[in-house]
Amino acid sequence: MNTELARLVEEARVVCVLTGAGISTESGIPDFRSPGGIWSKYRIIEYGEFMANEAARLEDWRRRFDMEDQLGIVEPNAGHRWIAGLVRSGKCPHMVTQNIDGLHQQSGVPAERVIELHGNARHAYCTDCETRHEIAECRAMLEATGNAPQCRECGGIVKSGVVMFGEMMPQTALGRAEDAARDCDLFIAMGTSLVVHPAAMLPVHAKRAGAKLAIVNREATDFDEFADLVIHAEIGATVST
Ligand SMILES: [Zn+2]
Repeated sequence: MNTELARLVEEARVVCVLTGAGISTESGIPDFRSPGGIWSKYRIIEYGEFMANEAARLEDWRRRFDMEDQLGIVEPNAGHRWIAGLVRSGKCPHMVTQNIDGLHQQSGVPAERVIELHGNARHAYCTDCETRHEIAECRAMLEATGNAPQCRECGGIVKSGVVMFGEMMPQTALGRAEDAARDCDLFIAMGTSLVVHPAAMLPVHAKRAGAKLAIVNREATDFDEFADLVIHAEIGATVST
């Protein structure tokens, strides 16, 4: 464990952790926006097109099933486990993630303590009545009918829980994330380049409220100069003992 990070955590009363794609790449999930990632392989389907067009929905679902196959074989890593331990200790009441893979929950962080800014790929919702549907159920519906999944309750359009391009950010999650950033006295950004909004604003909220800022990321970020501690390394190597 990096001794300076350990000291900051030791001294902190309330920690808020933000994670980005970097923590998932250490589990073997490619950054969806980087070369080899899913968005470089496929054209972007925006929310409006998904809602308006059955062919776009079918194309989107095929990608979700690809992603589901990939997510089925990945495991949380040392970074996820360290954060889960921090949450378990009571020091980190909430964590925020830009990831959609559900690996924090899988590593033992209770779902109500994980604030997901970009949604979650592991389940789906009806866009009319919000009834939750499982991905496997959606796949079975598509395979049985050849049509994009429709809500079993109301017949509405079912969409994966991932926030799509062109779709409004989940406002409840965003508000909770801002509160968590303001309420901590140590904010740790891990595996995020802090360029995608709204995540990029969270360290600003934390700093303005008087918190210390630690950044663990392989590459430099625009926030490095404002941080109290910057570690340019893998997360797993940074937190492992
Ligand atoms: Zn419905």
